[in-house]
Amino acid sequence: MAAAPDDQRPAPNLEAEAEVVSYSTEGPVAFVTLARAGFANAQNGRMTYAIDDAYHRAVEDDSVKVIVLRGAGKHFSAGHDIGSPGRDVDLDYPRVATLHYGHADKAGAERHYARENEQYLGMCRRWREIPKPIIASVRGACVSGGLMLAWTCDLIVASDTAFFADAVIRMGVPGAEWFAHPFVMPPRIAKEFLMTGDRMPASRAYEVGMINRVVPDTDLESATLALASRIAEMPRFGLALTKRAVNFAEDQQGLRDTIDGTYHMHHLAHAHNELTTENHLAGQNARSMAEKLK
Ligand code: ZN
Repeated sequence: MAAAPDDQRPAPNLEAEAEVVSYSTEGPVAFVTLARAGFANAQNGRMTYAIDDAYHRAVEDDSVKVIVLRGAGKHFSAGHDIGSPGRDVDLDYPRVATLHYGHADKAGAERHYARENEQYLGMCRRWREIPKPIIASVRGACVSGGLMLAWTCDLIVASDTAFFADAVIRMGVPGAEWFAHPFVMPPRIAKEFLMTGDRMPASRAYEVGMINRVVPDTDLESATLALASRIAEMPRFGLALTKRAVNFAEDQQGLRDTIDGTYHMHHLAHAHNELTTENHLAGQNARSMAEKLK
């Protein structure tokens, strides 16, 4: 993926990672695997576009009926990359999800707004509308930006080691950029989830209807494949229409409008942080966030 470094700022130190997402198929099931296990699959820009490439490949392959999104290693995803050597927030990638202009040569609120509009809001919307069912297969951490990856999937199968959290309240920010929280769990539970930032274990996520299955960790792969294979027996167009029908119902209940509207509250918080702390994350980083997550 070509990337133009910002000429105003030093280029980030991109570590030599052969691939950040891997792709494979097993019969009618495509596996998209987040492959930054050394960084708990923290999502940098490069990974975002690699996920998109992998989804594109699965969509175009007529032999693929169902897609599985999973993470290599112990964790599904620790969220957006706010601390690995491969963090690439200063790079513009050619836009795929939107026709927004690039962010790298912009300043202030405009910079973050432009980048997140394409790489988070736009990408999540694009992925949610993929016409094939996607199953998230989650073990370990599924945190903040990781939630966006899982919640844009249609079904979620979790290991009993899995936990979900969105702790960006510590940055003064009202939830990750894809604000589906009050739709994937009841509003009062969403408030507790957001206001405490605490971990929600898989058993509780199942209880509140956020996920479809909780299975012993050793059974995660087989349980995910069994569900994917069952769905793969169904007609392709029927699956596409069914997905669209449920998404339409969610949008009638306000999901899309809520996400579009709250995106601006998210960016009010980023801008407030820049004004008061000169850092849009209020000085938090991967280490400080992980230390407080319980
Ligand atoms: Zn943000």
